[in-house]
Amino acid sequence: MANIAFIGLGNMGGPMAANLVKAGNSVCVFDLVEAAMDAVVQQGASKAATALEALATADTVVTMLPAGKHVAGLYLGEEGLIAKANAGTLFLDCSTIDAETARKVGAAAAEKGLEMLDSPVSGGVKAAQAGTLAFMCGGTEAGFERGKKVLEGMGKNIFHAGDHGAGQIAKICNNMLLAVHMIGTAEALQLGANNGLDPKVLSEIMLKSSGKNWSLENYNPYPGVMETAPASNDYQPGFMVQLMLKDLGLAMENSLATQSSVPMGALARSLYASFSGKGNASRDFSAILELFKNQ
Ligand code: NAD
Repeated sequence: MANIAFIGLGNMGGPMAANLVKAGNSVCVFDLVEAAMDAVVQQGASKAATALEALATADTVVTMLPAGKHVAGLYLGEEGLIAKANAGTLFLDCSTIDAETARKVGAAAAEKGLEMLDSPVSGGVKAAQAGTLAFMCGGTEAGFERGKKVLEGMGKNIFHAGDHGAGQIAKICNNMLLAVHMIGTAEALQLGANNGLDPKVLSEIMLKSSGKNWSLENYNPYPGVMETAPASNDYQPGFMVQLMLKDLGLAMENSLATQSSVPMGALARSLYASFSGKGNASRDFSAILELFKNQ
């Protein structure tokens, strides 16, 4: 089992670190927020006073941070994790960040002879708690083989997407498509409802027809159709609008950098930006259905 330093114990990182303890690893945690560390210490982790203190005895470092600037700030520079790491340390950054930063940090690690995987996750807080996250990894084959063993303590489906940054690209492609089919599902259901159809019946029909998709099957955005979906619980998240908007922003930045045409993704970002700006940032992303309701 691994000696793990886990840095970034927010909504996702906290339960992920706890699952690594449950999987039998020795886990030392660090976060800027003391209470976030204490919650994981109660589950059997130890805590460090700084990120570098956690790094000192680790063979593996897992980070789960808000954005690219936090990842670059922690890993790079003379006082960064890469400069201070012991030989053989494996880095697994599970944060959702821009691919460019992931490539830069991965290259800095490689220059020091260290393996690093960008390994963003699919699945929200519930999947983090249940240990059923999917991981999409970017890095070398050798790094992937090592990292997979650790990631298995927090998730179920672990993919090697390609070299450094490829995990982040897979993540933005997936979430851009999710946004598009969620919006499409919402407008189709509302069109049916506006014509007097029962959204439950319409959903059943589309599930057996060519409109079937993941949102319709697992996350129906119309209230009352699916008991367990956020739509039936006042759109409590789930997956917040602001997080979807962040991922769509990363997809748009990348589409500019690579001259990729993403008209559906661009429209989805615009609709989520408008919806978020109207006080919906912290609601579940399936609440986008309300954009299509007649008053
Ligand atoms: P969060 O804001 O709840 O947690 C981030 C944590 O990082 C905080 O506890 C913060 O104190 C800590 N932190 C920030 N800078 C630090 C530093 N320099 N040193 C130590 N700790 C530091 O965020 P979250 O919801 O846990 O999400 C984390 C990442 O996972 C994000 O990139 C997000 O996009 C991604 N993600 C989130 C979800 C979700 O449903 N919440 C789903 C998939 C992916």
